[in-house]
Amino acid sequence: MYGLIPLPAELIERPGSLRLESIGAAGAPAGLEAEAAVLNAWLARAKAAAGVASAEGANRDGGADRSDGAIAPLGLSLDAALGGPEAYRLSISSDGVSIAAASPAGLVRAGATLYQLALSHPDALPCVEIRDEPRFAWRGFMIDAARSFYRVEFLERLIDLAAMHKLNVFHWHLSDDQAWRLELPGLPELAAMGSRRLDRRFNAVRYRTGSYSPEDVRRIVAYAAARHIEVIPEIDVPGHSTALLASHPELWCHGDHSDRLFQPEDRFGVFDGILCAGNEETFGLLDRVLDGLAEFFPSGYVHAGGDEVPKGAWLSCDRCRARMAAEGLRDEAGALDPERLQAYFMDRVSRSIAARDRRMIGWDEVVDGSCGKDVLVMAWRSHEHGYRAAQIGRAHV
Ligand SMILES: [Zn+2]
Repeated sequence: MYGLIPLPAELIERPGSLRLESIGAAGAPAGLEAEAAVLNAWLARAKAAAGVASAEGANRDGGADRSDGAIAPLGLSLDAALGGPEAYRLSISSDGVSIAAASPAGLVRAGATLYQLALSHPDALPCVEIRDEPRFAWRGFMIDAARSFYRVEFLERLIDLAAMHKLNVFHWHLSDDQAWRLELPGLPELAAMGSRRLDRRFNAVRYRTGSYSPEDVRRIVAYAAARHIEVIPEIDVPGHSTALLASHPELWCHGDHSDRLFQPEDRFGVFDGILCAGNEETFGLLDRVLDGLAEFFPSGYVHAGGDEVPKGAWLSCDRCRARMAAEGLRDEAGALDPERLQAYFMDRVSRSIAARDRRMIGWDEVVDGSCGKDVLVMAWRSHEHGYRAAQIGRAHV
């Protein structure tokens, strides 16, 4: 309907239309400058795509290229009575455009609707009244920047397209066996060694690199925030940690009596580069990483992974065995149980995250153990794992 994705909750057709080039830029009510800037950028882009001049430009030239010479105002206002935080009302008449929203986020959602209408109706927008509110509070997309590095400019373009489709969560997967992408003050070795991957496509020794500086992160977070998209970082532990072990091989179970060196993997798979759960230094390093995440990401969530942990190293590690014995992590038959050690590990990480006023997200393996009530579960193996998380009372995505 009218080229709108997703469909709005309610659309009432009115007679008439409004020429795209006559729509003026939105003025910015106090405190809504960022939202107005996003709407005006979208409007300008739609006009450029349609090949029409902006109303301001035409006005300065005396309005010669417009049929009636008048600028149709684009008005923004807030009205808490409209509903949830992203609810909005968009009215297009032949006199102008009026947007009211329950919160600044709703203004951007309405702007996305206007942008889509402008792209699908490059000559004249249909006169409509749209009332809309999302059915789902969490509308996320995930980018795996560990396996493949994406430049900040590309991420901004993607975030803009996501906002155009009213998504509101950007889940940024920043570490895996194949790379550690986040530069953290005080821990420069993590990205320096973890984001440098041998490129085996060549006979010569070549590397592929790419990491995000604190400045890159601030830029992405601010760009997303202007579009009311929350940026949630993911550092995947205790499995998928080969790239972390590249700079901290001592945190591997046999790290202190082995000369094995890790480097970021150049192929897909599940690897045995996992963190020792019996070594306190593991949790010490993760605390410092979490300090950095809390500093750079304002989101109330931190994704800590928790998926695909091959636990053989834990069973053959003296420190992990001592941890399992000391904490009583045994199965029904009384044997040391690495599944429960995983639950212990993720529980400690979730408490460290909670101590920084954030909530842990974990992949659905976290419900295999006794994950805390506050953990948000992301189902990736199947929908069934999401249902299972719901059945034991965990919030899930
Ligand atoms: Zn160990």
